Amino acid sequence: MNSWWDLGEWSGNTGKDLSTHSIECPFCSERGNFDTEHHVEKKQPNGNKVLNFDTLKCGNCASYVMVFWSAGHRLHSYKVLPWPLNKLEKYPEYWPEAVGRYWLQAKRNLKDGNWDAAALMARSSLQVSLREQKAKGNNLKQEIDHLAAEGILPKIIQEWAHNVRELGNDSAHPKPDQPATPPEDAKDIVGFMDYLFEYLYTLPKQIQEYRARKNS
Ligand SMILES: [Zn+2]
Repeated sequence: MNSWWDLGEWSGNTGKDLSTHSIECPFCSERGNFDTEHHVEKKQPNGNKVLNFDTLKCGNCASYVMVFWSAGHRLHSYKVLPWPLNKLEKYPEYWPEAVGRYWLQAKRNLKDGNWDAAALMARSSLQVSLREQKAKGNNLKQEIDHLAAEGILPKIIQEWAHNVRELGNDSAHPKPDQPATPPEDAKDIVGFMDYLFEYLYTLPKQIQEYRARKNS
């Protein structure tokens, strides 16, 4: 999205009116139980588009959320502030199951400060993902090098991988004198994992959706 005026043009929920049933209260987690307390809108200077600024009140806990939303031809999309924090309940449904399962555990462990476990789960998630791409090698770094040589991963990701220390570890066989994982190393590998999955799963899906829109 290059401009806020593009909100609701390419992706979002069906319909031209704000549907609150998918909005979750960030304070009590109740979904879709909102009354509109305040609504203002701003019309596009040289077009038909409208940006809406709503304040919603939760019917369950009486807290407020601000919803910025706009509708395109058939869809509308919104941004909510504040949003629910630390909701690590699911991974995108288009990810492979094992990749997502380990990813979730890596993220949860990172949130809780379990650095060894976060790094271990991130390595497991990456391992499943790289193997699925038919990577070869004795550790994750080598597998990333292999995929880069095959042209499946770009050079910039390969070079980044060489700076992520945890990728070189063999976590499946810890030694008795295995040092603790520093918090920075755990955060580094989880950050790398997030970007890699954006590249491997989210970007292709967005391109596919874009093509489907063009052809429809
Ligand atoms: Zn609430």
